[in-house]
Amino acid sequence: MTAYLDHAATTPMRPEVLEAMMPFLTERFGNPSGSHAVAREARKGLDEAREVVAECLGARPGEIVFTAGGTEADNLAIVGRYRAHPGRVVCTAVEHHAVLHACRSLPEPCTAPVRPDGVVDLAALAELLDETVSVVSVMLANNEVGTVQPLADVVELVRDRAPNAVVHTDAVQAFPWLDVAALAAGAALVAVSAHKFGGPKGVGALVVREGVTVEPVIHGGGQERDRRSGTYNVAGIVGMAAAMQGTVSRRAETVARVRILRDRLADGLLTAIPDATETGDRANKIAGNCHLAFAGVESEALLVLLDGGGVCAAAGSACTSGAVEPSHVLTAMGVPPARAAGALRLSLGSTSTDADIDLALDVIPPAVERLRSS
Ligand code: PLP
Repeated sequence: MTAYLDHAATTPMRPEVLEAMMPFLTERFGNPSGSHAVAREARKGLDEAREVVAECLGARPGEIVFTAGGTEADNLAIVGRYRAHPGRVVCTAVEHHAVLHACRSLPEPCTAPVRPDGVVDLAALAELLDETVSVVSVMLANNEVGTVQPLADVVELVRDRAPNAVVHTDAVQAFPWLDVAALAAGAALVAVSAHKFGGPKGVGALVVREGVTVEPVIHGGGQERDRRSGTYNVAGIVGMAAAMQGTVSRRAETVARVRILRDRLADGLLTAIPDATETGDRANKIAGNCHLAFAGVESEALLVLLDGGGVCAAAGSACTSGAVEPSHVLTAMGVPPARAAGALRLSLGSTSTDADIDLALDVIPPAVERLRSS
């Protein structure tokens, strides 16, 4: 048996998603930019998907820009906004690299520190804001430790202190768990990625609110009202819409069920393993996140033992789990390097079961003990 506890890296595709996509991979194969009957068949699917995605994100259909995933959506938000409206770019120190590195590709990037619980320090953020700022990027939920940011407070602060800035939020990890339409209502730019909520990989969206301009970062045939060129990934977009619908319609029930599983997992591990600490404040995390750190353990060695025992987990974010330097998120939270080196992220999803938790509780404590005694 395998316990897949790496849903923050990616999620299994929902069966209804594949079903919705199949016609667009077969008979409805047209390029929606054309004008003939076959193109129109694809266009209809694209238009319907856009309506669904817009509704699930609390936006208008014309405000949706389809992208090839979360990374591209974040880059379009930050680089595209900067090019349309040059100025300083500000983000938190715990952003995903898609945001952090996009900001660092521009002149004068500034990062706002976070408190030890991973929440942005609003007073320090306020200090960075003035009329020279173009975009402020604050993620809704963190991919490593699951912390939820006070986005409404950020929006208010930016409105007061940085009148020329817009707020971008990376809602990639938030979407499975939080009402993004409501929580990100004040953000001008909102990024999501389908594969984090039961959709296919390589497709995402950026909400660009009416009146906000972004210069394209991908140039070509002028699709998406010249905001993102490239032939539409129609099947992927249709799949994302189906995954969004499924996620939103069952979100409350999934959150309630998974939170119980997550709490059993976290409490069980904290009880069974001496000198284990939980990262962040559990009351302010997305329901699927369990992040622990163990003194005297190397994460990479632990992941190998867990893999051998059938538990799929991660050390930090999937993109950096091959690297040995401590996670920038844990460093920003002030977690001491020796403890950050023994970090373990267990991320649950809508398909997680009691059996997954039972296996994790059987496998993880002896693995930690074995590494400590070796
Ligand atoms: N932003 C966050 C918070 C993420 O967790 C991820 C993926 O791990 C991304 C952006 C990038 O999304 P994608 O994998 O679709 O490029």
